[in-house]
Amino acid sequence: MTRHGSHVSYYIGIGLTVGAAAWGSIRYGAGIPWEMWNEILVFLALIVYFHSRSVNISKRMNFSIGASIIFPVIYLYGTGTAILLGAMAGIVDGVAGRKSWDRLIFNTAQLSLAALVGGVVYENLGGTFGTPVFPRDIWAMAVSGMAFILFNIGMVALVSALWYKSSWLSRLRAVGLGGLGSSMASGYIGVIFTMFAASYGLWGILLFGILLLELTELLQAGLTIKVERALRKELEEELVVDFKTQVYNFRYLNEWLADPKKEKVSALFLDIDDFKVFNDMYGHAEGDRVLTALAQTITKCVRSDDKVIRYGGEEFVVLLPCMGRLEAEKVAARIQQNLTKLPYAQWNQPITVSIGIAAYPEDAKDKHQLLLMADRAMYMAKSSGKNCYHLWTSEVSS
Ligand code: GH3
Ligand code: MG
Ligand code: MG
Repeated sequence: MTRHGSHVSYYIGIGLTVGAAAWGSIRYGAGIPWEMWNEILVFLALIVYFHSRSVNISKRMNFSIGASIIFPVIYLYGTGTAILLGAMAGIVDGVAGRKSWDRLIFNTAQLSLAALVGGVVYENLGGTFGTPVFPRDIWAMAVSGMAFILFNIGMVALVSALWYKSSWLSRLRAVGLGGLGSSMASGYIGVIFTMFAASYGLWGILLFGILLLELTELLQAGLTIKVERALRKELEEELVVDFKTQVYNFRYLNEWLADPKKEKVSALFLDIDDFKVFNDMYGHAEGDRVLTALAQTITKCVRSDDKVIRYGGEEFVVLLPCMGRLEAEKVAARIQQNLTKLPYAQWNQPITVSIGIAAYPEDAKDKHQLLLMADRAMYMAKSSGKNCYHLWTSEVSS
């Protein structure tokens, strides 16, 4: 997506966010329990660490781990402290990630504002700050945690909708609804963190903090492997697909040839008739469209397990596993029949194909020979006047 036009509404959005965050800091700033500075400092280190550690796939994860840490801060040290730490995380993240100033300001304001929302909801539900009472305060925690998460996602969606001038709902879907589950899981971790910290103080915070670090390292490693695997698979698949027609390419055929597995299989070898003439009459670009249409037509005429391969230029090979020559003949007839339904069949230089058919093990002793026989059979079809198929026969080939 590209940014375009002026962004008055975007900057107004940022301005309002900053204003609200500033109001929250003034309103709740006085309540920060500075005597707990050592615990707060550990939380600050944790929150800064998780927000400034940006690895592409962890974008969502950073955010959700952030929730795990900001929750205990709200419940243990109050709304003001959470606003302060959220703001500091935003600033450090922006500076470390060299984000643009508007991003930095927005992130900072958003993080502190989310903390404000979480804190105010918790307060209004009668939650106890400082030493939360379990399980009585769990409800207030759950609801305020939900408010925190939804607010965060909503804000990011809103600002990106203003930025890209798209609808808020579509951005909401793109930005974060998918991550809702993981955010809730980390909210849950946040509540456990709170219990732990409330019971064991500074040591509890340190130990749980280290646990979270370890956990995210593991998660990160797992995610990285998963993404890399998917990427590799995609690349491998792309490597054997023909860019123009989206069927398999010659490389795929080579892989198939190299595979020692022996199974009954028939091969069709197709070549477009007088394609040079077509190109000369209608241009190369139209010719390319023909290739795509032909590839689609062939694909439509075969089973899902059959392989359609662009052998080269305007030549295609179709592999039909577990099929004998007579069944393969029917497939060839079907392809030719379906080609007559394309609009190209009505053009002055209509598109037709000549097809050669051979089968393993009936006609050939191996895969290489199978292709050779099918190719030869195709030439037989050409010499019988084109626009027909021909089964490979030894008598004529001599
Ligand atoms: P024949 O009936 O004997 O097959 O005649 P033909 O003109 O089709 O001859 P041949 O099979 O040798 O033709 C190959 C032609 O196919 C030459 C070239 O113009 C065309 N061709 C090959 N690859 C492409 C391609 O990717 N796009 C287009 N538009 N044309 C191609
Ligand atoms: Mg050819
Ligand atoms: Mg041809």
